Amino acid sequence: MTVPFLDLQAAYLELRAEIGEAMDRVLASGWYVGGPEIAGFEAAFAAYCGAGHCVGVGNGLDALHLALRAMNVGSGDEVIVASNGYIATVLAVSMVGATPVLVEPDARTHNLDPGRVEAALTPRTKVILPTHLYGQPADLDPLLELARRYGLRLLEDAAQAHGARYKGRRVGAHGDAVAWSFYPSKNLGALGDAGAVTTDDPVLAERIRTLGNYGSHRRYVNEVRGVNSRLDPVQAAVLTVKLRHLNEWNGRRAVIAGHYRTALAASGLELPFVPDWADPAWHLFVVQADAREALQAGLTEAGVQSLTHYPIPPHRQQAYRDLALPAGSLPVAERLAQRVLSLPIGPHMSATQVDAVVGAVATAMQRRAA
Ligand SMILES: *Cc1c(COP(=O)(O)O)cnc(C)c1O
Repeated sequence: MTVPFLDLQAAYLELRAEIGEAMDRVLASGWYVGGPEIAGFEAAFAAYCGAGHCVGVGNGLDALHLALRAMNVGSGDEVIVASNGYIATVLAVSMVGATPVLVEPDARTHNLDPGRVEAALTPRTKVILPTHLYGQPADLDPLLELARRYGLRLLEDAAQAHGARYKGRRVGAHGDAVAWSFYPSKNLGALGDAGAVTTDDPVLAERIRTLGNYGSHRRYVNEVRGVNSRLDPVQAAVLTVKLRHLNEWNGRRAVIAGHYRTALAASGLELPFVPDWADPAWHLFVVQADAREALQAGLTEAGVQSLTHYPIPPHRQQAYRDLALPAGSLPVAERLAQRVLSLPIGPHMSATQVDAVVGAVATAMQRRAA
């Protein structure tokens, strides 16, 4: 038996008829940029998130960078981001000319540690930018409190957290703005690149829309120097279909995560920690292991695909050598990068595949202990 990390083809095939109908509707409509499909998806996703507004953009990186620009963040400003996680969050800060200030995560939740943020604030700090990493909601209340106290904005990177809940309320409008990616492998994934920003702030929403449309909201009148980053109507139609299935598909992920947590409780692995206020979207199921490479090799041998999210923290990337943060300067992020391993999880995994993963982990761990 082979267990793929994620079966995107099966996701398409389950909805093939619905998706085909939606795509055909767009292709026959004559609207190939903008139009009713965009407005329809934006309204549906805003309602799903409990946000006043949703603005579709080209991808998740643009959602982050346009939200920062809309918040007037630029050269000389600082943005607080977690020192672990995906490079896009940090790149978005660089794209607006601001400086990313890397703050260590809580080693158990993998999310920005609110207790370490205050010490990193300076008069130049403009935004706190937590990621809901792996679909686990970040601890937002203390971050919101800090933002309020210091007059900062809170922008959330929710690219991995479609449908996750923080203290019972869905991620999507706790902070000033929330950035989403609909990259194909995300919980709500398009069939190509796509992204969005949700917010309760009508001014921010309008600025993001203008910035993503050449800095114009009246044709050929350009108020600011914008970019071209618009949600594609074909992708909007696909996303409208997939949004209807998101809760059910997230439910299937939660069942698998629950099974892993029970079956692997005595495996010797460090399993995901879920605070009692969190309802994760289970985008990834990330374990920590002392001998990560050996575990991964054992899984590969058993036909189980696993991935590392992420093997090199942003400050150790060549792209960020100018931050001059040598090895050892952010030890929590560096240690996580050496220990994390993502097991297969997705709405199209069979019970047999889940059992195969559990069996392969047990074999690999016993071999190490022997
Ligand atoms: C996927 C992802 C992004 C970037 O999204 P794209 O649509 O690929 O640009 C940003 N942040 C996080 C945490 C992500 O997982």
